[in-house]
Amino acid sequence: MSGFRPTATAISDFTDFLRLHTFKDDIEFIYKELDSPDEESLTLQEIADLETDNRIAYSNGSTLAVYIYFSDAPSEDDDTDEGLVTLGAVYRNTSMIIHEATIRKLASQSIAVSNADVEAATLNHEFGHLFGLVNLGTTALTDHEDSAAENHCNVEGCLMRAELQFTLSGKSSLDLKKGAYAANQSPACVLTGATVMSLLQPSKTGKAVEIPGLGTACIEDIQGNGAEIAPKILGNI
Ligand SMILES: [Zn+2]
Ligand SMILES: [Zn+2]
Repeated sequence: MSGFRPTATAISDFTDFLRLHTFKDDIEFIYKELDSPDEESLTLQEIADLETDNRIAYSNGSTLAVYIYFSDAPSEDDDTDEGLVTLGAVYRNTSMIIHEATIRKLASQSIAVSNADVEAATLNHEFGHLFGLVNLGTTALTDHEDSAAENHCNVEGCLMRAELQFTLSGKSSLDLKKGAYAANQSPACVLTGATVMSLLQPSKTGKAVEIPGLGTACIEDIQGNGAEIAPKILGNI
């Protein structure tokens, strides 16, 4: 949406994440500015319809195209009274929505956390699902899927973790997920604000925050699927 472009810092961090976990060297972002649909909130069907109208790139041969919609509207299923807000979700195998307006609102509530931090954590987490994590098309080689949060990791500090925040009413972010995407056939992640803020812990080195990476169990899963991490880190290329 006009005025809701992600920060260059977040896109740079996201690119680093993709380079680290794939063999892709040539990664390009094509921005297409759209007018606001002028909706107070968006349903998944509306998000999918917007993609049909606006998507310009599709996968071709060994080139993978991914569509990411940066929305000026929150998810229809947000419950702001309960503090349950959705930052991002995957809804098709190469499609992702980022609720940019919600990200900015959330980041503005913390002195330590910037828009770029929340954007990068959300983009990387959602792309982890497009890698098939956890048990979302990529087989989990060890038992690290969270029994309480399907398709998420139970390893402390892993990017693919989903913290469930229970509130006074007993509602959880998992209920939010079920409500939002129960009707959807394909698996989807709904990443809540509470999860991302708990992932973005202030670092000990004095830098504001550290965006978590994939834990060992998740990395092993995608390596089992043919992904690579070692060469770039170990300098084996
Ligand atoms: Zn998720
Ligand atoms: Zn993990």
